[in-house]
Amino acid sequence: MENIIIFAPHPDDDIINNSLMMKNELKKGNNITIVYTTQGAKNSEKRYIKARRVAIKKTIKKYFKIPLKNLIFLKYEDTTLYKIEEAKKLFKDINEILKKIKPNKIFIPTYEGGHIDHDVTNFIVMKAIEKLKLKSEIFEYPTYNNYMNLKRFYLFFMREFLKNLKLDNTKYQLPKEFIPYNNKKPKLINIKSSKKDLELKSEVILNYHRLSEIFMKRDVKLNKTERGTDLYIKKREYNYNKPPHSSFPVPLGIVLANKVKFKEFKNMVKYMEKEIENERDDKKI
Ligand SMILES: [Zn+2]
Repeated sequence: MENIIIFAPHPDDDIINNSLMMKNELKKGNNITIVYTTQGAKNSEKRYIKARRVAIKKTIKKYFKIPLKNLIFLKYEDTTLYKIEEAKKLFKDINEILKKIKPNKIFIPTYEGGHIDHDVTNFIVMKAIEKLKLKSEIFEYPTYNNYMNLKRFYLFFMREFLKNLKLDNTKYQLPKEFIPYNNKKPKLINIKSSKKDLELKSEVILNYHRLSEIFMKRDVKLNKTERGTDLYIKKREYNYNKPPHSSFPVPLGIVLANKVKFKEFKNMVKYMEKEIENERDDKKI
């Protein structure tokens, strides 16, 4: 039996990105642990935190039958992981979890500039793996640069439009399959899936949305979730002092917000890398 661990920055990144993989691994009799690195909302949004947690628990129980004790909810606020204080605590938590689980396979979000919590989770888990010298296989999943769909085309036209208006001097690029890192095209691993598998994946995601909206006493939006198969990249080496690509694949407002955060992300990276190095030197003495 293998031990699998998934790091999901928010309750739903597990099902959106790993539903088919989870089904396959459970069929093989493997054990899955899911770690949610944030609660998926701000501390002030108590109702929303609870809604997401209840909805993900029920969805996992219904479709995957993973024991609820294997779901680890870390209590970090949404979009705060890049702050040094939070990153330090998260690094410690993740070290403890990895030491305990001793995973054969680790699934993490890729470094892609879509959501800062995803990028920080990638960085922190990679650093913990390095520190513990784990020999686990590592797979990265893209969430924001995954599929070429209507939304992506819309974003592309938005970028072109903004470029022409010269509102933003960022060089936008439309990625082909996935935004390359250092212009190196990553090797993509597709989880083989039938039409039935993809329908099941949509159902899983829809079920989660329905549950969280009911809990929030909002109208249930029944728009069909269009998702492709689960997609992975084998672990890559990153220079976290540089953004994952020349821009973030989102319209202007969010691009600017992410850029401000990237400065702080870089500070945190510098701090953490130094801390880890110091700790190593201390041990040598
Ligand atoms: Zn997320």
